[in-house]
Amino acid sequence: MTNQDIMQWIERIADVLQENRAYLTQLDSDIGDADHGINMDRGFTNVRGKFAAMATMDISTRLKTVGTTLVSTVGGASGPLYGTAFLRAGMAVAGKQELAAADVVAMLDAFLGGIVARGKAQPGEKTMVDALTPALAAAKQALAEGASLADITRRARDAAEEGMKATIPMLATKGRASYLGERSVGHQDPGATSSWLILGCLAEVCQHSA
Ligand code: ADP
Ligand code: MG
Repeated sequence: MTNQDIMQWIERIADVLQENRAYLTQLDSDIGDADHGINMDRGFTNVRGKFAAMATMDISTRLKTVGTTLVSTVGGASGPLYGTAFLRAGMAVAGKQELAAADVVAMLDAFLGGIVARGKAQPGEKTMVDALTPALAAAKQALAEGASLADITRRARDAAEEGMKATIPMLATKGRASYLGERSVGHQDPGATSSWLILGCLAEVCQHSA
């Protein structure tokens, strides 16, 4: 991935989260407080406001700027969680002018690591971790098999989609949805859904790479 690809990924996330604002909010109205789409769109609208300043930044600084913007402008749990994810992702690729497949997987590893460090959720607790954990495993597996970046990111996205769907029967034990107890069962987790969308954007941007 070039620095331009990273910018395209960020721009695509901003567009896709805006397009899915109502959907993510609807999911959060079932098991939360109906603001996940609003939170994510607000955060990335603020990121959009930094696009001009980001023009001259390197890959790491761009990702870290997304992180600090989300931490400082999103009130919900998802702001600090995704904010830390992008901050850690940026730190993982410090100094790199271009990302090879292994670097992209390291970036995803750090992304999930940031969410876990911040939120302390384990797989199976009905959170974004349930989409990102299988996605990272799929990416690592694909990398080990020598797959192209296009394939690695596609397989990560597909695993995230499965992980997202697997949150439906789960009982929430972290975050706001955990207040519902058994009533959280039968609903797809909003954060797992935004994680799948974010990885979908990555796969899209990486389809042109070998
Ligand atoms: P809030 O819950 O504060 O309203 P959002 O609605 O924006 O924030 O985000 C809710 C999402 O955050 C959930 O669907 C879940 O995926 C995620 N989440 C909540 N708590 C945690 C946590 N401790 N670790 C990981 N993800 C979490
Ligand atoms: Mg919410």
